[in-house]
Amino acid sequence: MLVYKFGGASIQNAERFKNAAQIMVQVKEPLLVVISAMDKTTNALEKVAEAFFNGDKDLALERFNLIKQSHIQLAGALLQSPQKAVDALHPFFTEVEWLLHDTPVRSYDYYYDQIVCCGELLSTTLMYHYALELNASTVWLDVRDIIRTDNTFRDAVVDWQYTNTRIQQAVMSRFQSGTGIIITQGFIGATDENESTTLGREGSDYTAAVFAHLIQAASVTIWKDVEAVMSADPRLYPDSVAIPHLNYLEVIEMAYYGAQVIHPKTIKPLQNKNIPLLVKCFLNPTLPGTRIDATHPGKLPPVIIHKNHQALVHFQSRDFSFVEGAPAHLLREYFELQKVKSNLAQHTAISLLCCFDDHPQKIDALASMAATTFDVTVQRPLKLLTIRHYNQELLQQLTEGYKIIVEQRTTDTVQCVLAEINR
Ligand code: ASP
Ligand code: MG
Repeated sequence: MLVYKFGGASIQNAERFKNAAQIMVQVKEPLLVVISAMDKTTNALEKVAEAFFNGDKDLALERFNLIKQSHIQLAGALLQSPQKAVDALHPFFTEVEWLLHDTPVRSYDYYYDQIVCCGELLSTTLMYHYALELNASTVWLDVRDIIRTDNTFRDAVVDWQYTNTRIQQAVMSRFQSGTGIIITQGFIGATDENESTTLGREGSDYTAAVFAHLIQAASVTIWKDVEAVMSADPRLYPDSVAIPHLNYLEVIEMAYYGAQVIHPKTIKPLQNKNIPLLVKCFLNPTLPGTRIDATHPGKLPPVIIHKNHQALVHFQSRDFSFVEGAPAHLLREYFELQKVKSNLAQHTAISLLCCFDDHPQKIDALASMAATTFDVTVQRPLKLLTIRHYNQELLQQLTEGYKIIVEQRTTDTVQCVLAEINR
């Protein structure tokens, strides 16, 4: 059994849908396919949820109508006889439209999930109907009947035990009775009360890993528009190279430092069962891509990760008490409350320096919260540069033209908070 995951870019238009379907139907063993929403549909659905929650029903419906039309149009461009597929899309449209006629009485996150989950339901319905036209032996599953989660809307936690039971019933039995391809949704799940949930943005990779773990897949393949996992963003660094082999640990580290390779939660379920993860290019499936497994990857090239829009917050204890201990504890509580995580932290005796993604509202709220106990200064805008497997020469080259505000090194990683030098 194999698991494939197709992201939004791989089903951006009818041509890409066809290309992804060709990749699927060539597989000669049972295949579970996890698919994201088409292109930027999730962003567009977020805008629907926002308008609805702000009380602007008309705007929400107008925005939703555009999403509806784009899927109906796609059905027309993709399918020889689109009517059946369009009929199958309608219940999902109706579900959202009904909700949009209500007045919000629950949390934003709850409504967000009820609305945003529709993107994956629509895209997979279209793919399923196209696979049928190709005569594939295929089944479409509503993943909300399989992946059970808690009710932490927008960041739901999977109930592994229940999900496992459902996978044995709904997935394994179908493979055993000869189904070739099972098509289902990434990113979404449901609570025990059948409320839809989402697993966090870009969560489809994680869904693929959950399935792979529970069906003991031979591998998971994530189909992307890049040739492989690259040593840096090729748009920013023309010298970046494809990395043919990585281990789980390296990928977790890369994701932690902000490389947008794979959703960070994806690795653990795979590592636990030693299931290799392949990153391949849907534009050219003959390219080798990247293999991620438990074996030692050998010498890796320097891996460059840039994060823009950073804020450096300096907390200094006002009464000169050491920051380690109670003050640091208090600060961690504030971080939790504001839902911020530091990308780099450094202690001195009476102060703590933390670099955060600069969501100005959150950071300013954090600063004023902490100002009751600490002297707080915020420096922005900054960049955070991380180089894994660095060498001095590269570090020098990449920090040229910047002032280094904070630097932190271990034997394999260097991180610098950088400010542009005003000329
Ligand atoms: N469609 C969702 C998103 O854009 C999930 C995913 O793509 O993995 O975040
Ligand atoms: Mg995506």
